[in-house]
Amino acid sequence: AYSDLILYINLVLCSGSKQRYIVKDILGQGTFAQVAKCWDMETNNYVAIKIIKNQPQYYQHGVFEVHILSMLNQKLDPDDEHHIVRMLDHFLFQNHLCISFEMLGSNLYELTKENKHNGFTLDVIQDLSKQILDALIITRYAGIIHCDLKPENILICTSEKPPKIKVIDFGSACFMSKTIYTYIQSRYYRSPEVLLGYPYTVAIDMWSLGCIVAELYLGFPLFPGESQFDVLKRMTEILGDQPPDNLLRNATKTNNFFKHVGSINQLVDDQSVKRNNSDYQILNEEEFEIRGLKRPKIGKKYFRFVKLEDIVADKASRKNLPDEQLDKERAMCLALIDFLRGLLEFDPAKRWSPLQASHHPFVSREPLLFLDKPLRETPLTPVSHALRVEHDPRQGHQL
Ligand code: ADP
Ligand code: MG
Repeated sequence: AYSDLILYINLVLCSGSKQRYIVKDILGQGTFAQVAKCWDMETNNYVAIKIIKNQPQYYQHGVFEVHILSMLNQKLDPDDEHHIVRMLDHFLFQNHLCISFEMLGSNLYELTKENKHNGFTLDVIQDLSKQILDALIITRYAGIIHCDLKPENILICTSEKPPKIKVIDFGSACFMSKTIYTYIQSRYYRSPEVLLGYPYTVAIDMWSLGCIVAELYLGFPLFPGESQFDVLKRMTEILGDQPPDNLLRNATKTNNFFKHVGSINQLVDDQSVKRNNSDYQILNEEEFEIRGLKRPKIGKKYFRFVKLEDIVADKASRKNLPDEQLDKERAMCLALIDFLRGLLEFDPAKRWSPLQASHHPFVSREPLLFLDKPLRETPLTPVSHALRVEHDPRQGHQL
């Protein structure tokens, strides 16, 4: 049984008939697999071996992961320059498909936790964004959607300073031409089109990247929803907008989130969500019951402010920076916000491509000529029952 795998620690894994790997530690455990740190007796190196659960559907995913990674590694990134994990080998062990990888360090979620959810410096975030974009330029070129971009799937390379990272876990990846699964992406990082059941493209990875970059700055996920509705509701509030009508009209799950109000909607203008000219309005919790649907789980608010701009400005002012540095931080925050707005664009057709995003001043570090409004002039919009972000919304549960 899969649960017995843990007992393999210090047992020897076999590649072919020859004993080759000694399991030293468990590095991670996900939905599909367990990842073990192993000593490779043939190369005298540590490797990470992903041991896939021995059930047919997981095996299929694993085979596909091998297929996609060999294509990415060998054809598109032969010189290992584009921040995609290197696959070393794959083999069957006691009916488990095993994939061996170069040994990497901690994932970005673990690092966030280690630094007590304070967030990283903007310099580091710029550098990390550039590297992730580089990987996404390659995957897009290959027509591959990663489908599960999140901090847990971005690993730092050990002993490199400044931090070099690699994108891992192509176990949910698919080709643009074959988007068969509808239940993809981890909830906090799930794009509006996937939530709503609208045909998705490589643009879903860019949405996830926007969520990741915001989280690296804030120290906490931007949309830590307890349910799919909760995630979408947070998006509309924080971004002050909603998906375009043409997406809502053509998505299969729109009715789970929105009501069709037609032209009456133009009279409705409550709260913070811009609903002018839309035929759709997001449901409120009571309306689920009226419709005979289960009330969606709604988590608590994690930020003291509602709008993205305010959440970022508030974070900047809490970094306890000296005055001179605070001005520079605020200027860089303007670039950060503009960058995030391009990634967290509701309309997948308008969302930036990795190449476009890599030319943005936030990443290219060109001067911000077009952004001259000081951030401190932004009026802050507090949440009435505001709570400080104090604990980790993941609380150890699987997304
Ligand atoms: P799953 O599909 O189950 O999520 P992953 O490939 O994402 O599997 O691996 C799960 C976890 O194992 C990762 O989040 C990471 O912490 C760890 N891990 C995976 N690959 C490596 C590696 N090459 N080096 C070090 N740790 C790894
Ligand atoms: Mg993973």
